[in-house]
Amino acid sequence: MKITDLKCAVIGQNPTVRINTDEGIYGYGQAENAKPYLRSHILFYKQFIVGEDPTNVERVMLKIRRLGGFKPWGSAVSAIEMALWDIAGKAAGLPVYKLLGGKVRDRVRIYNGGVRHGGNLLSPDDYAADLAKSVAAAEGFTIIKQSVGFHSAMPRDLPNFSYGEYINAPAHPNKGLLTEKGLKHVIACVEAMKAVIGDDIGLTLDCGPGWVLPDAIRFAKALEPLNIMWVEDLLSGDYSPYNLADVYRDLTMATSTPTHTGEQVYLRHNFKELIERQAVRVIGPDPEDVGGLAELKWVAEYADLHGILMAPHGIYDGLIGLAGLVHVCATMPQNYIAFEYPVGKPDWWYDIITGLPNPIVKNGLIDVWDTPGLGVDFNVEKARQYLPAGDENFFD
Ligand SMILES: [Mg+2]
Repeated sequence: MKITDLKCAVIGQNPTVRINTDEGIYGYGQAENAKPYLRSHILFYKQFIVGEDPTNVERVMLKIRRLGGFKPWGSAVSAIEMALWDIAGKAAGLPVYKLLGGKVRDRVRIYNGGVRHGGNLLSPDDYAADLAKSVAAAEGFTIIKQSVGFHSAMPRDLPNFSYGEYINAPAHPNKGLLTEKGLKHVIACVEAMKAVIGDDIGLTLDCGPGWVLPDAIRFAKALEPLNIMWVEDLLSGDYSPYNLADVYRDLTMATSTPTHTGEQVYLRHNFKELIERQAVRVIGPDPEDVGGLAELKWVAEYADLHGILMAPHGIYDGLIGLAGLVHVCATMPQNYIAFEYPVGKPDWWYDIITGLPNPIVKNGLIDVWDTPGLGVDFNVEKARQYLPAGDENFFD
């Protein structure tokens, strides 16, 4: 089998990849809906993979993997890798999870991810009310994550939150020493959420990046009696093109509150120091940033060897990304906790994708399906209307 074409169309906001072959089998992959600007970057790789056998996934990846980077620049390579697995599975007549080593679990746990309720959360009451909505959600979440600190409106909207200068730019650029008021405010918001959530559902926090180490230690220690599942990206993360593994290790060793990072990290090599140095307790690579499904599987196995837990990122991954997450997470060792559940944006994504369970999530879990490849496809009749001008032939 040979690759004959690589296409990319931004459908809704998700750069969506289609790889065609000379045997009529095609595969889909997807990049985050936060990155519609990646289309041309994805198409750049076409010249390197046309003519290759897509079922030799690793051999194809050796041609393009070096031409990627930390978020957002690992996404294009990752989306292509996902589409290659889709083809390889269809060609073998097997679901992708079987090609990645087989199922460890029949259902994969997720956390709330893209299921959000809008509004600007600032006060403890705001946080408590919003959390109550997530607790009541139809998905039956068993883990819920909320955004606080530098990962929230606080640097902008809470007067005297920190001693840092406020930066109005995307992807959480703010950083600085917190005022005592700011630190107490974040802790009060977490306490208000714990009062709502009880001990039946786990609470986790996306916090930064931007905390300085002394504040991060004080915060994590203050949370110890609350049994927070993990505190994510306090020091670096999101779009930081580095890891700060040494600083994370100092934080991690200072507290019993589990630390978490890694959503922006590209390739197994860039998890080596975080894992080997026990710099964090939980890592969260995203299959659409780390280099793809097999890359994520490799990192999960290496983390397990070192006693580190897995909670993969995925909030923006779209419905094809959701399928990829289900397959790879079904194969992870027992260090797997849950992945961050992506939703289709806009809602019409649910009308144009076939193959997902209905409902997708039951009691906070997704049943792993057994159809070949990723097991999802487009209803082309319905989907064609959403193709942007210039990409009308995407499904051909
Ligand atoms: Mg995050």
